[in-house]
Amino acid sequence: MIDSLRVVTRFAPSPTGRLHLGHAHAALFAWRAAREAGGRFLLRIEDIDRGRCRAEYESAILADLAWLGLTWGTPVRRQSAHMADYESALARLDDLGLLYPCFCTRATIRAEVARAGAAPHEAGERYPGTCRALSPARRAARIAAGEIYALRLDMAAAVARTGRLTWLDCARGEQVAQPERFGDVVLARKAMRTSYHLAVTVDDALQGVTLVTRGEDLFAATDVHRLLQALLGFATPTYHHHQLLIDASGRRLAKRDQAMTIAALRESGLTAAEVRALAGFADAAAIGPIGAGP
Ligand code: GLU
Repeated sequence: MIDSLRVVTRFAPSPTGRLHLGHAHAALFAWRAAREAGGRFLLRIEDIDRGRCRAEYESAILADLAWLGLTWGTPVRRQSAHMADYESALARLDDLGLLYPCFCTRATIRAEVARAGAAPHEAGERYPGTCRALSPARRAARIAAGEIYALRLDMAAAVARTGRLTWLDCARGEQVAQPERFGDVVLARKAMRTSYHLAVTVDDALQGVTLVTRGEDLFAATDVHRLLQALLGFATPTYHHHQLLIDASGRRLAKRDQAMTIAALRESGLTAAEVRALAGFADAAAIGPIGAGP
């Protein structure tokens, strides 16, 4: 059972484009979950990818959400301002002996996957483990030679350490985590000293999020987050993965659907209540302040 007094939800967009109707659905979903429980709704700007994120998109996100009638707890957490938190999580994982440097490029990984006989689409993003076997001396030599590397999680060692893990999805019940499916995930790169998986896990813990609501495209990723929580000693939130909005042709809405941006809908003359209804929240008419307070 969720302790209604402590429910904290969040909406965590990346400022890489304008928000569309699918984002409105996700934001309203999290907002309503907090509101129904008398809890808090937080906003987090996921801007670790400095190459793709833009300040003007961030201000547009705040303006679009405010126009929709949402309010949120402050301060808004911006991931780029918290790199030290991700560094300290990395240091803890490194102390546990669970990280290793990987010098592979995408091209060498593709070649290795092909050599092992798996079709790339079967292997997906799963890393074949090439650099896991390097000796400490070899690693040190390559780092000293200035080779660029990423830090990967030794998945088998991590899973052996935590044992069986479960998490709860409000819609689909108890889940047994299978993070092995992701292989040795990258947790940091030279140009970006964190990754989606690491940043989201650290942030949800540090922001005290108790109910993570997000699209079902991230359902499997929760297994990795659950593993990182166990390794880092964080509490595990409850999850509620919701369906994604689809367009008339059955495709999920994406940044390319310019006509479905909140800005375009507003400019077409729709009211905020009409856009909330299009996003599946016709009942969210009586929107009042939420998210203030400690
Ligand atoms: N920033 C992610 C996105 O825009 C959401 C991350 C999450 O909810 O865990 O898809």
